[in-house]
Amino acid sequence: MAEPRVLVLAGSPEARRLAALLEERHPDWHVTLSYAGAISALAPTGYHMRIGGFGGVDGLVDWLRREQTSLVVDATHPFARQMTRHAAEACRVTGLPLLRLLRPAWGPEAGDDWTEVASTGAAVDLLLGLEAPRPFLAIGRQEVAQHVGGLAHLACVLRSIEAPDFALPDGWTWLQGRPDLSEEAERRLLADHAVTHVVTKNSGGTGAAAKLVAARQLGLPVLMIARPPEPDMPRAETAEEAVNAMLRILAPV
Ligand code: NAP
Repeated sequence: MAEPRVLVLAGSPEARRLAALLEERHPDWHVTLSYAGAISALAPTGYHMRIGGFGGVDGLVDWLRREQTSLVVDATHPFARQMTRHAAEACRVTGLPLLRLLRPAWGPEAGDDWTEVASTGAAVDLLLGLEAPRPFLAIGRQEVAQHVGGLAHLACVLRSIEAPDFALPDGWTWLQGRPDLSEEAERRLLADHAVTHVVTKNSGGTGAAAKLVAARQLGLPVLMIARPPEPDMPRAETAEEAVNAMLRILAPV
């Protein structure tokens, strides 16, 4: 049997872990890691990497057929709703198997003061009803860009990997960087910037969880943006689970 040709839709740490595991265990497989291109400096992998959108569902269908793909793994971020929808539709059209690699969501723990909201817009509405909040926006610069008008008169603190591509309103603070893994560093950041509320998406995972612990320790309220609903499809929560599920899917019947 020819070696499988796998498209991994990347953009999450789990996609990287999956690529590393596949490289170790199935070095003969043809794996392509696909990125949207939102981050300019991507660390290389041993596999082929392609960067940029496919051109909607039709473009993805063409790509999958051209590359004679056997399996698609959607390992995009839990909030990459459009890519996830497109992957589901393109796999329906081509009849290809699709696996979703999706890490579990965060849940509140004792001492947490979370308010779950359905969208970033709902979080903004809530902030606008508060007296002089100083929110820490840990939701990504592109998401912030869509709501900057509504938030302009608040003294927001924004952290993002890449510089915002909108004019920073007066009174805002931009911090360049990724989420810190250290709870102490996150606590210091929140305290140093006199943050009153943490606004975050329910991304799950460990990479961005330290700010939640820091918020708990400081007694700060968190506005937790719930995950968008997704099409129904087979799921794995870890890279290890995904490799096993891929083997099951690819096994000859
Ligand atoms: P999105 O809204 O779901 O996707 C927008 C468009 O970007 C898609 O229609 C597709 O373009 C292209 N795209 C997205 N992921 C792609 C991939 N892995 N490979 C090739 N094209 C891709 O996604 P987003 O929320 O803008 O996020 C963009 C990327 O950043 C995603 O890969 C995601 O995993 C990652 N990310 C997102 C978040 C977040 O909070 N949304 C956080 C961290 C990382 P075409 O229609 O032209 O194919």
